[in-house]
Amino acid sequence: MNGSKAIHRVAVIGAGISGLACARELQSLGISVDVFEKSRGPSGRMSTRRTQDWSADHGAQYFTARDPRFIEEVQSWLQAGTVAVWEPKLKVYEAKTWRDSHSQDIRYVGTPHMNSTGKYLAEGLSIQYETTISQLERREHQWHLQCSEANEITALYDFVVLAIPAPQASTLLKGLDSRATDIADAAQMKACWTMMAHLPNQLNRDFDAAFINQEIISWICQSGSKPMRQGSTWTIHGSPDWSQDHVELSKEDAQYQMVQCLTSLGFNCEDADISMHRWRYASGGLKNGIGYLLLPIIGLGLCGDWLNGGRVEGAWLSGFNLALALKQI
Ligand SMILES: Cc1cc2nc3c(=O)[nH]c(=O)nc-3n(C[C@H](O)[C@H](O)[C@H](O)COP(=O)(O)OP(=O)(O)OC[C@H]3O[C@@H](n4cnc5c(N)ncnc54)[C@H](O)[C@@H]3O)c2cc1C
Repeated sequence: MNGSKAIHRVAVIGAGISGLACARELQSLGISVDVFEKSRGPSGRMSTRRTQDWSADHGAQYFTARDPRFIEEVQSWLQAGTVAVWEPKLKVYEAKTWRDSHSQDIRYVGTPHMNSTGKYLAEGLSIQYETTISQLERREHQWHLQCSEANEITALYDFVVLAIPAPQASTLLKGLDSRATDIADAAQMKACWTMMAHLPNQLNRDFDAAFINQEIISWICQSGSKPMRQGSTWTIHGSPDWSQDHVELSKEDAQYQMVQCLTSLGFNCEDADISMHRWRYASGGLKNGIGYLLLPIIGLGLCGDWLNGGRVEGAWLSGFNLALALKQI
């Protein structure tokens, strides 16, 4: 690519936190950006499940901020009221014993829901929802996109950003660039079985959330303990190793095993109202993060948590820094 003047129009695939960060920064540089998202809304794994009776964050539970640039960004989200600090009473369960957590981390959550932050970042962007990009083709220095829901997308793009989990990126990259495909294939992402449970017979516990070690469950959290939430739904995550090893279980079988574990932790699961979700690509990524991947010759960039140490902060920084790097070419 001969200088940034050649980039007029960019397609960002994925409206998770990394894609939104990248798209916003590119748009602020005066570049025309279209975002394509397969779901009905933005925010990706920073997500909330809502029914008539309850709601629960079933993906990311909270996030932390350590990098100065991300801390600055989070301050702007706090001012906009789209995140708040969450100060849970935290416990740890280990070697069959409960103890208080001594973690000093400042924890942030989207308000009123985890996906509120993504909705806030999506404002002012051109986003086509329910559009699953199924094929990318580069002809005469332009990208042609196809989506599963219709045929070819009519607009042509100078540059494409893949802001999606590594296995999904790998599928789109096949035949386009072997180095990028190898990098995506080297990432090891793990699943997460998530259980959202209303436990009518459970008396209040003396904690809001707990890290569970050496069990098939790794996290439990009462949704109502987070700012601007109500209700008594618990979100329970299977551990990465157990979830990955049991990713093909039926929802009923996964639920059965997690309920057994929850009961052994002293929870009363009688008459529980339970909803299950299987995240195929919840966490993990490259062993040694590279931040993002920029291939200026073919007009392609990759960002996402899996390239940058995982988590919400890593994802945001990956997308933001890719946009800054694009400005330099
Ligand atoms: C159960 C769970 C618990 C977690 N807990 C925490 C936590 O406590 N703290 C923390 O910091 N992080 C946590 N995380 C991780 C955090 O959610 C992620 O690191 C972050 O949200 C990833 O953002 P992303 O933009 O890289 O990817 P994603 O959020 O996955 O965004 C990718 C988007 O691309 C879309 N997409 C995929 N393929 C296509 C396609 N072909 N066409 C169009 N769109 C497509 C997807 O629908 C999605 O919206 C958790 C994640 C899970 C699942």
